[in-house]
Order: sequence, then structure tokens, then C-alpha cells
Amino acid sequence: MDYVKLINCMRCGMCLPACPTYKETFLETASPRGRVALVRKVQEGQLDQSERLLEYLSLCLDCQACASACPCGVNAGELVAEFTCERKSESGLGFMEDLILRKLVPHPDRLEASMAPMRAYQRTGLQKLVRKLGILKMFPKQLERMEGLLPDLPARPLRQEIREVTPAVGTERGTVGFFLGCVMSLIFSDASRATIQLLSALGYKVITPKNQVCCGAPNMLGGDLEGLKEAARTNVDLFGGHEVDFIVTDCGGCGAELKKYGHHLEGDVPATEFSSKVRDISQVLALHAEELFPLLKPLDLRVTYHDPCHIAHCQGIRKEPRDLLKLIPGLQYTELNEADACCGSAGTYNIERPEMSDRILKRKLDNIRASGAQVLVTSNPGCLLQLKKGLAEHLPQVRIMHLTELLAMSMQL
Ligand code: SF4
Ligand code: SF4
Repeated sequence: MDYVKLINCMRCGMCLPACPTYKETFLETASPRGRVALVRKVQEGQLDQSERLLEYLSLCLDCQACASACPCGVNAGELVAEFTCERKSESGLGFMEDLILRKLVPHPDRLEASMAPMRAYQRTGLQKLVRKLGILKMFPKQLERMEGLLPDLPARPLRQEIREVTPAVGTERGTVGFFLGCVMSLIFSDASRATIQLLSALGYKVITPKNQVCCGAPNMLGGDLEGLKEAARTNVDLFGGHEVDFIVTDCGGCGAELKKYGHHLEGDVPATEFSSKVRDISQVLALHAEELFPLLKPLDLRVTYHDPCHIAHCQGIRKEPRDLLKLIPGLQYTELNEADACCGSAGTYNIERPEMSDRILKRKLDNIRASGAQVLVTSNPGCLLQLKKGLAEHLPQVRIMHLTELLAMSMQL
């Protein structure tokens, strides 16, 4: 860990109002400033790595709202993630971690096969029966939460359906590589299908290499730095074999990770070039707002936007999604209060820290209710899962959509 990054904190406290866990607890140990101080003390040998310390640090969502607020460029979330990742990598992968991070996640075919029982569980009506009878109450709470987050799965993962090359509609303006995130393909396939259609409608030939693998974000989360590097190498080599103007993704979490491949592979030239080409879909669509506008049909809807942390804080993208929504004729855009505050999803945080996750989600839902929106738009699968469940339980009148789904709806694709 780079010690200089720790000592840059001048303890001004400007990050405190941005931190979701501090806003819920008002505890210094649950604040960015406190977390930086704890990690610094360990690095200086003044504090042991006790269970209590790790417990404090694990309350951090790694949402990086503190980085957006800090005048000194300190990124407490990233420092905590780096610290815990280094500790985990020192202790090596356990049996289950090895099984998930090495044997399952990097293999799209296995990942897809692993979802087949869930699809059968939903399609046979077993899910409805299990929920009605409350059978999951007999199992560990974590299992019940995971099951509750699962929305209706598509009949097939998108990776199995789409062609490797989708031609441009009309005159071809360029070629893009499409990075199809695992969760987008397995669960939110309609949104990624819409993304490809939009790019094609705007004149891009879209190449979606079928052998691409997970971006590596789960490996980073699990402290598996070797697995992360392997994922980066595979994707860099694969996309490097195609001449593309941009590498586009509609998954905020994947985009944030792909943009760090140059760093993960320690300045490797093809990896750095790969990262420089990565764009969130909103960035590419916003480039073509003038051509997009005549294709959009009116939508009489009140809409608001939730900024995914991986898009707003990690990639600094805030304006483009809003500009695109405001292009749709008839659409009434309402700004969401605390729009860039985390929704409490944060990878597996909503499973591992359910109590804090629920408190953060409640605050988000209260803001959505106050906005009066009929549709909530966002662009990250973790947020979609978390907010879909929250809305279904507390605000069923509000529909959630990915940005590209709403744009495709307006274009009547
Ligand atoms: S992390 Fe940044 S904003 Fe927070 S106390 Fe330190 S210097 Fe101030
Ligand atoms: S990453 Fe988020 S939860 Fe963690 S310290 Fe920063 S603002 Fe707080």
C-alpha cells in the first residue's frame, strides 16, 4: 500500500457528510477520516490487525463518495479495499473462494450452467410456493436475502443469444467492442440487448467477443489479485485482436474495473491502451445526442435518476445520463435528492452487512418517494437488483429501468 496516500489526509472532515455509514451512525470509526486513520496506524505498527479493526473496516461500502468530496485527493474507500484485499491475499484463498473465484467466475459456460437450477426454480412455480409457505425462514438468513434479491431471470443468458458481430444500421460510422458483464448477460439481458440496438442504430458495428470473461471485480473483492490479473490479461488479449474505436459497457461496476486494467497489469502497454478505450454507454450515446434526438418518440413519464457509485464516483460520469434522459420528448425529469448516495448494494455488502444495507436503502427509497417519479433509471446491475427489491416491497408503483431500456423504449426498438 502506498503510505503517501494515507498521510495526505489532513483530517478536515469534509468527507463526513458524504459518507453513508457516517450519516447513519455519526461514529468516527465509521467515517472516511476514521478509516484512513485506522489503516495508517496499522501501517505505522501502532495498531494490531484485530477482529474488531477488520469489523470496523468491513462496514465501508467502497462507494467512494468520500473521494468525490475530499479536497486532498484521498480515496478512503479505495484505501480500505486495498488494505483488506492485501490481507486476504496474504492468507490465501479458502476452499469456497477458490471454487467461486477460480473455478466458476472466470468461466462463462460454468457460470451460465450454475444459473440453470435457479431458472428452473422460478419457471416451475417452485419459487412462488417456497415464498408462500415461508420455507426459506428455516434456512440461514443470508440465503433468504439472496433469494429475495433474485428478479425473474430471462429464458437464456444474452451471451448465448447475440451474434458476435451486430452490423450498423445505415452508414457505418465506426466499430465498438461490447463488454457484456456477467450479471447483465445472466439477469438484465433486456438492457444489454437494448444497448447493442442503440449502438447499431447510431451507426456502430458492434463486436461482442463470446470468449470474454468476467471483468475481475469479484476477484478484487475476494482478495484474489492473481485471478484479477488473469481476467484482465484474457480480456485485453481478446479485445486487442479487434480494431475498435471504443470498448463499451453498460455495467458501471465493469466499466470502473476495466478502466483500471492498465494499473492492474502494471503499465502493460496493451492493457493501458485497452483501458483508455473503455467508455460507459452514456458517454458514447451523449457524443451523438444530435443524431439521437430525432429518433426519440415522446414518453409521458416522470423520471428520476440514481447515480451508481461506480459511475459517478469511480468514473466521474454524472452529466451524460441526465442529458440523455432530458432529450426524450415529453419526459418530465426530476432530480433525486442525494442522487449519488450509495443504495446499499455494494457488491455482496447487502448480504454480508444486511442491517446497514437496509438503513441505507431506506434513505434512498424515502428520497425516491419524495421525488414523485414513476420511473427510476440507473445503470448498474448491483443497484438494479437492490432497488428493484426495495421498490417491489415499499414503492411498487415505481418502475426501475436501465438507462438504455428507457431510451430504446422511446425509440420504439
Ligand atoms: S479524507 Fe479528505 S476530506 Fe476526509 S478528512 Fe481526510 S483530507 Fe479531509
Ligand atoms: S467508501 Fe463510502 S462508506 Fe467507505 S468511507 Fe468512503 S464514503 Fe464512507
